[in-house]
Amino acid sequence: MNEIRMVDLLSQYRKIKPEIDQSIQQVIESTAFINGPEVKSFQKDFENYLGIKHVITCGNGTDALQISLMALGLKPGDEIITTDFTFIATVEIIELLGMKTVIVDPEPDSFNISPGSIEKAITKKTKAVIPVHLFGQCADMESIMNIAKKYNLYIIEDAAQAMGTDYSFSNGVIKKAGTIGNIGCTSFFPSKNLGGYGDGGAIFTGNHDLAEKIRAIANHGMKVKYYHSHVGVNSRLDSIQAAVLRVKLKHLDEFNLARQKAANIYDNVLTDINNITIPSRTSDSTHIFNQYTIKLKNINRAKLRKFLQSRGIPTMIYYPVPMHLQDAYRHLGYREGDFPVTEDLCRTVLSLPMHTELTGEQINYITDNINEFVNHYVSM
Ligand SMILES: *Cc1c(COP(=O)(O)O)cnc(C)c1O
Repeated sequence: MNEIRMVDLLSQYRKIKPEIDQSIQQVIESTAFINGPEVKSFQKDFENYLGIKHVITCGNGTDALQISLMALGLKPGDEIITTDFTFIATVEIIELLGMKTVIVDPEPDSFNISPGSIEKAITKKTKAVIPVHLFGQCADMESIMNIAKKYNLYIIEDAAQAMGTDYSFSNGVIKKAGTIGNIGCTSFFPSKNLGGYGDGGAIFTGNHDLAEKIRAIANHGMKVKYYHSHVGVNSRLDSIQAAVLRVKLKHLDEFNLARQKAANIYDNVLTDINNITIPSRTSDSTHIFNQYTIKLKNINRAKLRKFLQSRGIPTMIYYPVPMHLQDAYRHLGYREGDFPVTEDLCRTVLSLPMHTELTGEQINYITDNINEFVNHYVSM
């Protein structure tokens, strides 16, 4: 059995090596390293895959979120609602732009932002909501879009963990994660489902004017060279990353399927183990398992992790600290107890190895060891 890793990009690379190597080589020989034809081709390919008019690539997923808030013309003091249970980038950019972060709890089962909590947090100053499609499954976008319409709010989807996820509306319309709100954002960080071999990100929108503005802001606020119409940033995807991503995009559905198969094998065994809750699957969204995250009850998480580590099984905690209790965000004025769902999740979640190359043998080994620990521990 091969070494078990949280993410195994090396085995995946070996499978697609000829395509990747050729694609990278071609960029080197073209010497069009920045904004070359490869970047434009990738944007087109990705627009077709997502079924959206405009994909604008940028430097990383955090920039994608920041540029989105800037492009929507949001101002210091505007309130932006987002979830307490996410990666820090979602909150960071709101604060960097001097806007007010309004945190709400997620749903305990799906881990995704709770529409009911969003509606309760809305004030006259609320301008936008940033739902995060955590771990690969869409937030309840039908309810969220209804709230946006009712209160006239912008929706910026943080779809960094959900590239390829399909969301179904009750009228039968199916859309890709990131193409539902006014703007969608993703990251091409190597461990994402669609990851490059370095940093990268992208912004999606169906609105032409917004797309123009986003494109300008990501490029020093200029539409015409050396004429600056907006205060911008310098955020671009390099051509070598685009070359890698073009190849990986062709394999994205097949890669996501491999993750889903791995998740099904995990589910089948773990569902029978006491005090472990397998990831919930909602009926309106597919799940592409950027992370396979279980919840523990009456099981000592630190001891379980140590035990698994001793058997050669890595695990991670996504995420150990709620946004409202992070030291850098004390000024928001939240306290322990304010968001009980997130606080509980941060104490009880555990992410298991999940990637495209995980074998049935490896998963059985992982679940056997979890089973052994749980039976031993509970009987102690
Ligand atoms: C990865 C990630 C980001 C940020 O992406 P970077 O490319 O690392 O800046 C933002 N939000 C979520 C939910 C992510 O998982």
